[in-house]
Amino acid sequence: MVNKYAIIGFPVDHSLSPPMHEAAFRAVGIQAEYHRLPLKINELGRGLEYLKRNNYAGWNVTYPLKEEILPLLDYITPEAKTIGAVNTVKVVDGLVQGFNTDGPGFVQSLTEKGYSLEGKKVVILGAGGAAKSIAVSLMANKAKLLILNRTPDKAQKLARQITGLGGFADWGALASGYWLREVDLLIQTTPLGMKGEQYPLSLKGINPEAWVVDLIYSPEVTEFLTEAASYGCKIWNGLEMLLYQGALAWKIWLDKDPPLEIMRKVLYENRNGREKNGFQT
Ligand code: NAP
Repeated sequence: MVNKYAIIGFPVDHSLSPPMHEAAFRAVGIQAEYHRLPLKINELGRGLEYLKRNNYAGWNVTYPLKEEILPLLDYITPEAKTIGAVNTVKVVDGLVQGFNTDGPGFVQSLTEKGYSLEGKKVVILGAGGAAKSIAVSLMANKAKLLILNRTPDKAQKLARQITGLGGFADWGALASGYWLREVDLLIQTTPLGMKGEQYPLSLKGINPEAWVVDLIYSPEVTEFLTEAASYGCKIWNGLEMLLYQGALAWKIWLDKDPPLEIMRKVLYENRNGREKNGFQT
């Protein structure tokens, strides 16, 4: 039997998940297909019925459905419930189970490089869905967070949630400040920079020892990362997060370690021109 998997959301036509997962299935000799299923919010209920009726074994969930899907699931992991978003679904005995691998994938992309988060001063730019899942995972790894957002109320809400969970988090507006000198890890989670636009805050004065990550991977090096590199910081784009969130999803589906290097190779070969509509997954 050929197992079926999919990515649901809108748009999904430029998603890198299908080539990444299909290459991984092929590499280990698993008979499986991975489809693109474009679904808007008002089509989600019917879409899930279609997936269940056609015996899909699991699927990834992307913009704009990560939060909308929660009430339609039979089980949600405590972590995904805390985040309020699901990016991976597995069907077990007809029951639809929801997981979130975005934050753990981000953390793994750093720890695999030997980076330890404990006690680190981390600044997150943005307070949307990606920032939230990353913040929860960073908190679990004992990092100290400062969340800065265009709409400061949202940064405050997220910071309050993190402190309510026993973590450390402060918040503020998306602006340069004292934090630049002290930051150990700076994470850019807004879509700003996908069209080559300049970032609205300057990194002048940043700690040159800081690691700087931009979740955007197309363009491969945003203006934001270019500026960080000019001050001596170590820079990474979002491709490694994409890889590890996918690898964790694969492990949830198949209960075995994925062929990580094959998945990485496919991502790096296909990475360009994926910036359509401001979302990349
Ligand atoms: P989201 O929930 O819509 O959040 C977007 C965030 O960006 C919000 O904090 C928003 O601020 C801010 N923002 C948007 N436009 C802005 C502007 N013009 N100026 C200042 N701030 C602005 O989106 P998301 O799901 O978190 O995704 C964010 C980005 O991360 C996307 O580009 C997505 O492709 C990328 N991403 C990458 C990966 C990966 O694996 N590499 C995974 C997930 C997401 P307000 O609150 O003020 O609106």
